[in-house]
Amino acid sequence: STFSEKRSNIKKSHKLDEVCYDIRGPVLKEAKRLEEEGHHVLKLHIGNPAPFGFNAPEEILVDVIRNLPAAQGYCDSKGLYSARKAIMQHYQARNMHHLTVEDIYIGNGVSELIVQSMQALLNTGDEMLIPAPDYPLWTAAVSLSNGKAIHYLCDEGADWFPDLCDIRRKITSSTKGIVIINPNNPTGSVYSKALLSEIVEIARQHNFIIFADEIYDKILYDGAQHHSIAALAPDLFTVTFNGLSKTYRVAGFRQGWMVLHGPKKHAKDYIEGLEMLASMRLCANVPMQHAIQTAIGGYQSINELIKPKGRLYEQREMAWHLINEIPGLSCTKPAGALYMFPKFDTKRFHLYDDQKMVLDLLLQEKVLLVHGRAFHWPEPDHVRIVILPAVNELAQGIKKLKRFLSSYRQ
Ligand code: PLP
Repeated sequence: STFSEKRSNIKKSHKLDEVCYDIRGPVLKEAKRLEEEGHHVLKLHIGNPAPFGFNAPEEILVDVIRNLPAAQGYCDSKGLYSARKAIMQHYQARNMHHLTVEDIYIGNGVSELIVQSMQALLNTGDEMLIPAPDYPLWTAAVSLSNGKAIHYLCDEGADWFPDLCDIRRKITSSTKGIVIINPNNPTGSVYSKALLSEIVEIARQHNFIIFADEIYDKILYDGAQHHSIAALAPDLFTVTFNGLSKTYRVAGFRQGWMVLHGPKKHAKDYIEGLEMLASMRLCANVPMQHAIQTAIGGYQSINELIKPKGRLYEQREMAWHLINEIPGLSCTKPAGALYMFPKFDTKRFHLYDDQKMVLDLLLQEKVLLVHGRAFHWPEPDHVRIVILPAVNELAQGIKKLKRFLSSYRQ
């Protein structure tokens, strides 16, 4: 066979067969094509605050710049001591006692740590309970690790809280742990202490590791309270994830952390695995780690954005009202995070392919959303909308969605 035939036979590995991350999937490719043709596309598909004019707190930038000359080398695989100490103290003050600096791992975003935490744990066939809808990297990371993502349903009629009966129903002898995304992406649900306590009780009964993705813990509306599940489960081994991308609007800095809490002596082997993976990628980006200590201590500028009349608050208010005014769409009001996850009346639109609908919307109106099934929602009847653009632009986008849906039938 010729060289070019051989080259066309380069195949991806089988470990990617089940891996899927549709937020940056085929519809985004089409959006890029439209942009190359000169169209303006309103991108409501990812939670990236900076392009919409959300600036990082000035003091973060100043600290990174000030430390840059001294940040040219590698650091410890788990991260800079000063940054990890600041993270440790932050969680100690939130009732996560017995933490040491060794329990804190800094990564290139939460994304890298999600993948590491699953790669270090799962063997072929091991099961992980993951919410539906989910932030799809969790499912992708489990699949990449040869594990099996088992989706437990969240209940739209109950503020999108996890359905505890469904969680119990899906537990098997292969279940290793449960993933909690709180505040949730894509639903915006913020879980009550009572609900989290019930999840802890299930985890306790079955000896699960709890993986808590809390990257939106400070993006809360209407006085919603966030509770870290790790603080409610000091007797269980938990891994809590957070980072700078959303609260501090520096997603491009790629800074996230994970915090190991609870009885570590039972997890010694797993922790060795985590340390191995951390070592293999040497360390996270060093200059940007200098932002962490400054960011998480003291004045929290995000509070200005989420209070009434604050930019994020007003965008959420407006978007929620406008979306509920569209015939055939309805949406639970998000209590946190940066998204809305409205439901379609599928009979009205004859909807059976939500990804096609999102593509049709893009082609017709140049507005980019993500279909609900990208978040492992089982039915083709939801879509995720990012609420980051300023009110005028966001209102324009939702008006275009309304116009599109007024005549849309599949
Ligand atoms: N977890 C959730 C729930 C997210 O929504 C995101 C980003 O959208 C991430 C993790 C990844 O964040 P990063 O890798 O920027 O820290």
